[in-house]
Amino acid sequence: MGGTYALIVAAGRGQRAGGGVPKQYRPVGGTPVLRRTVQAFSRHDAVAGVCTVIHPDDRPLYDDAVAGLPVMDPVSGGATRQQSVCNGLERLAAEAPDIVLIHDAARPFVAPGVIDRVIAGARGAGAAIAALPVVDTLKRADGGAISQTVDRTGLWRAQTPQGFDFAGILAAHRRAAGGDLSDDAAVAEAAGMTVQVVHGGEDNFKITTEGDFDRAEALVSGPLMLPRTGMGFDVHAFAEGDHVWLCGVRIPHDRSLRGHSDADVALHALTDAILGAAADGDIGMHFPDKDPQWKGASSDRFLAHALARLRDKGGRLVHVDITVICETPKVGPHRQAMLANLASLTGLPAGTIGLKATTTEKLGFLGRGEGIAAQAVATAVFAQTP
Ligand code: MG
Repeated sequence: MGGTYALIVAAGRGQRAGGGVPKQYRPVGGTPVLRRTVQAFSRHDAVAGVCTVIHPDDRPLYDDAVAGLPVMDPVSGGATRQQSVCNGLERLAAEAPDIVLIHDAARPFVAPGVIDRVIAGARGAGAAIAALPVVDTLKRADGGAISQTVDRTGLWRAQTPQGFDFAGILAAHRRAAGGDLSDDAAVAEAAGMTVQVVHGGEDNFKITTEGDFDRAEALVSGPLMLPRTGMGFDVHAFAEGDHVWLCGVRIPHDRSLRGHSDADVALHALTDAILGAAADGDIGMHFPDKDPQWKGASSDRFLAHALARLRDKGGRLVHVDITVICETPKVGPHRQAMLANLASLTGLPAGTIGLKATTTEKLGFLGRGEGIAAQAVATAVFAQTP
């Protein structure tokens, strides 16, 4: 007994797109709008119970939408929104709430802070609604021509929840029975109650049009991420020596690769692929081979630099794939070490790094064993900018 109860108004059936289900039962991000709305209240610490007013024909839709949620049995709505709310209040009277929050089913994105403010306002003043100040200039028009610029000072756009001292709003609704007021604040005003406005939220919009559904989908899915893939290719010739570097792993061999740096052909190809995904030049532009500071350099420094440039441009690396092309050395025995090193250098999880080796069937300079080639692709995602 006592406490704050939420009354969700979901009895409307008017908004149907293409003969589908009423909009409060349509999914957004795979979850029915009504389920999201109910959860906004059932998960709120200050809310003791949630009751929904529905159209009796929608009972199967309702049962599906709220399956598993801690809700009271639904109440059947009436011919008007006002009558539907009144039916819900009569049902809640048995719980003797202190405060009731009346909320549109089609506003699923009400934030906990908005609910807090409405509860505090209702406790303080007896009645409070979420609302936003009007910021656009308002015009009154007759036949398409402006007849008046309306002073917007003191004008607010009413949202829900609208919170009330329970006994006060129940009495006000009983007195207003038979009317068709558009919101419960109007019922309270008609009964002489003082209604406070508290700050609502831009995301607390009412889903009404198809455009609103698009906005809702965008809100739950986060920014659209666009992939960009870069490619890289590199060759180094063999020279005298006793090891080669591949993917940052030192592999004993009867020759070494010639190069200004450590000649890690695979990391060079990968670095170019990452620079390609960032659309940010190539390895030779960033690390000129005339520059003495790169003489003998460990190629993981090039890779780290390319990854930093990618991050600076807002990209997040999600996948790389490398092919090493040579007759010798055999890559297979070193494959696991190379994969582990690539994971450590790129920060990519296992399962997002491809590493393959092939030969050219003894054809060409690679087939004659004159060097090693590598090619790589790297894919990064970027938040879509409008
Ligand atoms: Mg190179």
